[in-house]
Amino acid sequence: MTAAEALREGAARLAEAGIEGAQRDARRLMAHALGIAPDRLSLVLRDPIPEGAQAAFEDAIAARLRRVPVSQIIGRREFYGREFRVTSDVLDPRPETETLVDMALSQGFARVLDLGTGSGCILLTLLAERPAATGLGTDVSEAALSIARDNAARLGLADRVEFRLGDWFAPVTGDFDLIVSNPPYIALSEMPDLAPEVRDHEPRQALTDEGDGLGAYRAILADAPGHLRPGGRILVEIGASQGEAVATLFRAAGLQDTTVHSDMDGRDRVVAGRLPEAK
Ligand code: GLN
Repeated sequence: MTAAEALREGAARLAEAGIEGAQRDARRLMAHALGIAPDRLSLVLRDPIPEGAQAAFEDAIAARLRRVPVSQIIGRREFYGREFRVTSDVLDPRPETETLVDMALSQGFARVLDLGTGSGCILLTLLAERPAATGLGTDVSEAALSIARDNAARLGLADRVEFRLGDWFAPVTGDFDLIVSNPPYIALSEMPDLAPEVRDHEPRQALTDEGDGLGAYRAILADAPGHLRPGGRILVEIGASQGEAVATLFRAAGLQDTTVHSDMDGRDRVVAGRLPEAK
């Protein structure tokens, strides 16, 4: 069997199961099975598929049929032009989160804190883009921190970043001129509506606060002002309907210049604020 034939068959099985983007997913899984970059695929499709690759491809298609996200099957995901290791212990880095990164990079910072760092994709991207900056990432999941540390090492950033285990600010010392977070913001009542890829395969504690979806923001804003330098900024990712509620929490915490920003799809995605300069 040629790789092209195996690919066609795999894509058809995904499409039959109603998986959106079946063709694209099958190509990425085939490239993974063959151990090549997806843009090299067309060069080998006419060749017979090696036995090992065929078995690996079939396993990958079977996993995708169980709705495992492609990034978890192939173990990595591109974010802001860099590759991050991804497992079921961390949230899959999403393109809309690049909005938060862009906003963070629009101004200077030397010391950055990322709360609930997961794969480390936000924090490590910021450090890679700002070679003089240093950072601290926290997470309640030791398994996630081990992925984040691995990603830091792969990106050559290990000497500028530290990761600590704990709830929000519990393990945090010192102050920062930038605090970022993509916390769990899906309300418990919305969990049943999520795609099976997200609901059944991504870490639940990265998705929901098990409440109204605002619990993480309340916890973060209780302590953020005490860890921001004068004039320091805080940026959090939000769900599309949460802009007003989170902006209100920012103002109540004494932050100023509070603004809500939309992502590339035009949906509210980031709330930004700033600690007043010292008087
Ligand atoms: N953006 C994710 C989703 O909608 C949610 C991530 C989060 O809660 N931080 O699936």
